[in-house]
Amino acid sequence: MGSGQVTSSVPSEFQGKHVTVAGLGVSGVPAAKALHARGAIVTVVNDGDDARAREQAAALEALGITVRLGDGSTLPEGTELIVTAPGWQPDKPLFRAAEQAGVPVWGDVELAWRLRGPDAAPWLAVTGTNGKTTTVQMLASILKAAGLRTAAVGNIGVSLLDAVLGEERYDVLAVELSSYQLHWSPSLRAHSAAVLNLAPDHLDWHGSMEAYARDKGRIYEGNKVACVYNAADKATEDLVREADVEEGCRAVGFTLGTPGPSQLGVVEGILVDRAFVADRQRNAQELAEVSDVHPPAPHNIANALAAAALARAFGVPATAVRDGLRAFRPDAHRIALVAGIDGVAYVDDSKATNTHAAEASLAAYESIVWIAGGLAKGATFDELVARSAKRLRGVVLIGADRALIRDALARHAPEVPVVDLDRTDTGAMLQAVTEAKRLAQPGDTVLLAPACASMDMFTNYNQRGDAFAAAVRELEAEA
Ligand code: ADP
Repeated sequence: MGSGQVTSSVPSEFQGKHVTVAGLGVSGVPAAKALHARGAIVTVVNDGDDARAREQAAALEALGITVRLGDGSTLPEGTELIVTAPGWQPDKPLFRAAEQAGVPVWGDVELAWRLRGPDAAPWLAVTGTNGKTTTVQMLASILKAAGLRTAAVGNIGVSLLDAVLGEERYDVLAVELSSYQLHWSPSLRAHSAAVLNLAPDHLDWHGSMEAYARDKGRIYEGNKVACVYNAADKATEDLVREADVEEGCRAVGFTLGTPGPSQLGVVEGILVDRAFVADRQRNAQELAEVSDVHPPAPHNIANALAAAALARAFGVPATAVRDGLRAFRPDAHRIALVAGIDGVAYVDDSKATNTHAAEASLAAYESIVWIAGGLAKGATFDELVARSAKRLRGVVLIGADRALIRDALARHAPEVPVVDLDRTDTGAMLQAVTEAKRLAQPGDTVLLAPACASMDMFTNYNQRGDAFAAAVRELEAEA
């Protein structure tokens, strides 16, 4: 790690500038408006041309913004800057044309970063393959417990542009950043940042695991106080080593084991800090108990430690870490206990949409009837199944790509009973839960952790989790 430079610009740089906004929608509309308000000559390009796009286009055109529907590929004449929706894939013709013409491309986060005022709140940033939303919300809860004005923003509902340009004043922001957003954020410089973990995901978008890791690693660039990494995930530590940060910025690890100096970890059920204490060779600061974390599953303790590390890097006292963690409850469909029936717990982790998340989820219980399957998105299941086999009482498979999981089970856990449900209608989840109930014994957990996306059978993971909960309640009513 060496020293880096902070770049920032003033809003007036947009006066008279030809800016193309790529993509209507959550980030595109506010970006177009913000740029237009700062004197830019804005053209919005959008692939789609549906009723909603037309409605949004009409509203922007009424302000004097040009909108081109049905063609997101052609670079408008005279473009000096592109501001893109984060999901647009880097190999799109629009970006190739921009590269050839020497036109810079920013994402919505980069724009927010550039538009923030001179006395703007610093950013504590979080990325990782899994656990981002939970960690950022835990962090916001801890910062609030310390009496700071803050919000959980970014890839999480509240757009950064709204947070940065809105009326509300903040002391510090807890920012969730996706790998896509980081890809398009060349000058972002956080106060401190964490990469929670790194497992293959979205590789079709990034092109390779190296490119994905590189984009995640951008979050550490220019950090001022701490680069927080996962001591159990070497790839995250490597990213810290490669980062160009400000002089004096420290690498701080988190671990579920006993922490070394400059780490946060767990000792006899207590979360402790050996990084932000006076003499870290000898001292440790008690932060909270494991039971203060909800739910106290191992991966969630890791999230809590990462959140605590960022808060401590910002100078938050230990008591606020404890109070913030106590006050925090995860969003729906993340290891949510739905009911206990006949000594069996029914847990909804529908948000476990990839194998890395499902593995963390399965590691949280001793004896499990696992409901899995859906859209695999190119994933393989051998590692997940091999590592989790000893915990499986039985498995119920649903969804389009369930054969991939069934084959992995046959290879690595041939003795585990498997029910393979060959149906995708709305009643399938009730049958899945009924089959799981039949396989379960008192003390077991029936766990929906599909390791797959949901769109083959459901609108999204929320609907899949709701269907699971409804099915469990139906069985509960019968019991
Ligand atoms: P993200 O915002 O990164 O998608 P969430 O906090 O919404 O993360 O959690 C998504 C899912 O990932 C959870 O339902 C859980 O299965 C899993 N998960 C959460 N934290 C971790 C972690 N630290 N490591 C592995 N898996 C995790």
